[in-house]
Amino acid sequence: MASPLLPPVMHSKESSTPFRARQARLRALMETRRVPAVLVTHLPNIRYLTGFTGSAGILWMGPRVGNLWVDPRYTLQAREQSDGVEVFEEKGGILKGAATWLKKNGVNAASFEASNLTYAQFQHLHNEAGDSLQLTPGEGLIEELRIVKDRGEIEAIRKAGKVTAEVFSDLLPQIRPGLIEQDLAAEIEFRMRKKGAEGAAFETIVASGPRSAYPHARPSAKALQECELVIFDLGAILNGYAADMTRTVFLGEPTRRVRSLYSAVLKSQEGAIRSIHDSTPTGEIDSVARRILAKQRLGKYFTHSTGHGVGLEIHEKPRLGKGETTCLKSGSVVTVEPGIYMEGFGGLRIEDTVLVGSEGPEILTPASKEHWVIS
Ligand code: ZN
Ligand code: ZN
Repeated sequence: MASPLLPPVMHSKESSTPFRARQARLRALMETRRVPAVLVTHLPNIRYLTGFTGSAGILWMGPRVGNLWVDPRYTLQAREQSDGVEVFEEKGGILKGAATWLKKNGVNAASFEASNLTYAQFQHLHNEAGDSLQLTPGEGLIEELRIVKDRGEIEAIRKAGKVTAEVFSDLLPQIRPGLIEQDLAAEIEFRMRKKGAEGAAFETIVASGPRSAYPHARPSAKALQECELVIFDLGAILNGYAADMTRTVFLGEPTRRVRSLYSAVLKSQEGAIRSIHDSTPTGEIDSVARRILAKQRLGKYFTHSTGHGVGLEIHEKPRLGKGETTCLKSGSVVTVEPGIYMEGFGGLRIEDTVLVGSEGPEILTPASKEHWVIS
């Protein structure tokens, strides 16, 4: 039985659980790519494969068995949460424990997560395991698997998206000049938790006036003023899964210029979302968004990529950027977030988290984009 102290576990110890299914998919991919074993140190990947949510652990995925090394703080939790792997408690350091086991069992080849393991850890592992162990930088196999979400993951992101959209929609009628950016960000994060989220998936952005021209502004002590654009970028995290949404509002009667800028960004975002289908290359979605803005001579103000995958991490594969060839698949969840940023004037961005369904795109952050003028 799950302890009330631990995050919910989405499995039972049966033969086919999401975690065992993911492990099987990984092993199939390992076989295709001729990867003998994977040493997993990136925690979201460990969670994805085993269900273990602790803040330290090393996972070894061999062709038939999987081992998870944890320190004594996490032994009980790992035994309760993890599925399909054997848990080892290591009092003398998990890296050393893993290396000793690999040496003792004659393992001579494994790939490791080069973008995660530090050089010091790599050396430590190498020294402990001995020269017979060949460690090769990995190709991001687990990240590749995570591009297609299973049913449980989609449900978790759907819930996170619903909370995110509701929090913004509830707050919208209360947004007015005089409120402080930091207070609004705090209020958003408080309301997410009140609605059952574990928290914010990233630092909430509330950026007003000229500050909205910074794509990744941190909320400041600035007060919202009349006739300003305000960007809200928020996302709840629920059962470990994130959502990501941006809305831009205008405080007061917008000028013709502001109206036409908003309509251009909205058209770009909606056009890009409509282009999403099973097997669309992500670079194609990016060019749809870019083309629509370029037609309005706004292309040069769109300075970042169109979107990113979202799931256990707020930014994960695939990237929706120029020239990207990864194809979306039914079950992928990505953001679509074109924006334009003009120094001294302000910025506008509209972002949704979108599920690639077999029948087309589905928006998982259903907050209105119509009510953007606050008079
Ligand atoms: Zn965002
Ligand atoms: Zn985003």
